[in-house]
Amino acid sequence: MAFWRRNKGDKFSTSTLGLDKTIEELQAQEAAVEKEIGVRFSKAIAKTRDSLNNKLDTIFENRKQIDDQLLDELEEMLISTDIGVKTTVQILEAIRKGVSRQEISDPVALKAVMKNELLDILQHSKDHGVAAETEVAESVKPYVLMVVGVNGVGKTTTIGKLAQRIKNEGNEVLICAADTFRAAASDQLEIWAGRAGVPIVQQKQGTDPAAVLFDALQSAKARNADVLIVDTAGRLHNKANLMAELEKMKRIAGREVQDAPHETLLVIDAVTGQNGLEQARQFTKVANVTGLVLTKLDGTAKGGIAVAIAKELKLPIRYVGIGEQVDDLMVFDAEAYVNGLFN
Ligand code: GDP
Ligand code: MG
Repeated sequence: MAFWRRNKGDKFSTSTLGLDKTIEELQAQEAAVEKEIGVRFSKAIAKTRDSLNNKLDTIFENRKQIDDQLLDELEEMLISTDIGVKTTVQILEAIRKGVSRQEISDPVALKAVMKNELLDILQHSKDHGVAAETEVAESVKPYVLMVVGVNGVGKTTTIGKLAQRIKNEGNEVLICAADTFRAAASDQLEIWAGRAGVPIVQQKQGTDPAAVLFDALQSAKARNADVLIVDTAGRLHNKANLMAELEKMKRIAGREVQDAPHETLLVIDAVTGQNGLEQARQFTKVANVTGLVLTKLDGTAKGGIAVAIAKELKLPIRYVGIGEQVDDLMVFDAEAYVNGLFN
C-alpha cells in the first residue's frame, strides 16, 4: 500500500504516485500544498483563536505582574475554552512553577508555557494509537478501517473525504455501507462514493451490518483492494445492541482478514464540545477505538476541545474536518494546531 497520510516532512514518492516529475518540481508542489493547507487550517480555527486571544488580552490588560488573581482568572478562562479541567490544571501547575522560579514574568513567557503544555498533551496522546499507516506492511491487504460515532457527527462525510484522499495517493479503495439502520445513510454514502469514484458495497435497509461487512471483505479480496473503509450505524440509545453489533463486525473482519480492523476511527463533532467528549467516552468503552477524527472545527469557537479529548481519551487525533467539501479533511498536526491557536 502506498502511504496515504501525507504529513509535514513526508516526501512525495515518484514511484507510488507514478508521476513523471523531478524532485524539485515535486518539492515546489509540496511547498505550495503545505502553504495552502496551513492557510486553510488557520482559517478553520480562526474563531477559536480569536476567542482565546481576546480573553487573554482582557486578562493581561493593565496588569504589570503575574499574581494569584491573574492566575485565577486565567484558570477560569481556560476552562471556558473547553480544553478541559484536567488540561487547565496541568497548564496552571506549569505556570505556577515557572512563576515561583521567576522564569515567567510576562505574558509572552506565559503563553510559551501554555503552548508547550498543549503540545505535550497532543503529542503524548499519539503514543497510544496504532502504528501510522505509513508503517503498515505491504502484506496487509486490504487495510480495514472502521469508522464509528454518533449520528450526525460526520462519519459519512469523513468517509467520502478519506476515500478520495486515499485513492488519490494511488490506492484501490472500497467502501462498505454497514450503516443499514437508515436507508438514507446508504444513499448518502453512495453519493460520496460516486464523487470519489470508488466502488461501494451496500445492501437493503435492515440487513445485518456484519453480513454487509462480510460481503465487502470478500469483494475487497476479489478486487485486490488496498483499503476497505467501513461506515457504521451511530445510534447510542441501545448500548448493548451497539456493542454486540460492533463486536460481531470486528469478529467477522478479524476472521476474514488477519488483524482486521486495523484501525477504528471515532468521529467526534467539535461543535458539541463536552457533550461530544462524553459520547466519545462511551464509544471507547465498547469499540476499541484506535484514533480520532474531529469534525466541524470550522464551525466552533471551542476548538480547544481537541486538547481535552486527546488528554482524556489518550488517543491520537488523526484527522480534522474543516468544512463540507471533499478536500476539507486534514491530517491533524499538533504543532500547527497549537501555533494556530495563539498566532
Ligand atoms: P453521520 O451521521 O455521522 O454520517 O454524519 P454526516 O456525514 O451525515 O454529516 C452530518 C452533517 O455534518 C452534514 O451536513 C455534513 O455536511 C456536516 N459535516 C461533516 N463534517 C463537517 C465539517 O468538517 N465541517 C462542517 N462545517 N460540516 C461538516
Ligand atoms: Mg452517516
